[in-house]
Amino acid sequence: MSRIDGKAAAAALRERIAAKVAAFRQQVGRAPGLAVVLVGEDPASSVYVGSKGKATIEAGMESFTHRLNAATSEADLLALVKKLNADERVDGILVQLPLPAHVDESKVLDTIDPSKDVDGFHVINAGKLAVGQEALVPCTPYGCIHLLKEELGDLSGLHAVVIGRSNIVGKPMAQLLLAENATVTIAHSRTRNLQEIARTADILVAAVGRPEMVKGDWIKPGATVIDVGINRLPPAEEGARGKLVGDVATEEAEGVAKAITPVPGGVGPMTIAMLLANTLRAAHAREGLEAPEL
Ligand code: NAD
Repeated sequence: MSRIDGKAAAAALRERIAAKVAAFRQQVGRAPGLAVVLVGEDPASSVYVGSKGKATIEAGMESFTHRLNAATSEADLLALVKKLNADERVDGILVQLPLPAHVDESKVLDTIDPSKDVDGFHVINAGKLAVGQEALVPCTPYGCIHLLKEELGDLSGLHAVVIGRSNIVGKPMAQLLLAENATVTIAHSRTRNLQEIARTADILVAAVGRPEMVKGDWIKPGATVIDVGINRLPPAEEGARGKLVGDVATEEAEGVAKAITPVPGGVGPMTIAMLLANTLRAAHAREGLEAPEL
């Protein structure tokens, strides 16, 4: 059994990205630029936006962070997105979710120029991924497939079970596995006999949001397990922070699986690395250059 070190994989990838960014700057005469928009003061979102900005700068890219008041109107937010669409220095636009209730999320996402949609949430990119065209792919499943290919090499013919069917993780994960010629089953909250289905997986991806739902006896011996879940348990004592756990009972799973991503330190660090990868790809495409191998 091995733990898949997402932190190390992300660090190595970020180093390769930084080298490609330097080459891009030399060739084009400017740095790739990523704009991140945060509406409101949700503490978790604020931390994510801060680390995205920091990682962008560390990779040698230009970072534009827009922190807007929670009361910002939908019209004002759409106007900012359109301004960023037209800004030549901006190759990638990310609007941090969730948005306040008075803003129509899908309207905002669909206003982002698909060629700058580094989160890969625009219907154009979701559609391109579904039909097998070159697309900007959502960062979390893109990170998962990167880890799986590093771990297993060829995924062809393996049975992959994805638990979760969200547009952000489950569905694009299934599409990416299919593109790698895996045999894919998508399970979700209405699936019957989930445990038995999970036990048939050579690759098990858990993207549910339920702390330690997947137990050791849900896993086929020798399977590779990708735990996307990030769940905070209630704190043991008042004032303390609850422990972070995934969707998989890691210790139990370790006795059965061949390899598993830990939480934290597995899928999480890969997400930001893939955001940088997408920004670099978008920058190349916008300059009419071929995407660099990473
Ligand atoms: P979501 O709530 O949008 O989707 C959850 C999915 O799980 C749904 O499709 C639902 O059908 C399925 N589900 C719910 N209960 C189930 C059950 N009992 N049995 C089987 N399936 C069930 O969540 P999401 O945005 O896809 O995120 C999933 C998890 O991944 C969350 O814990 C989230 O925090 C985490 N996440 C992590 C990263 C990262 O960077 N590591 C990124 C995005 C999401």
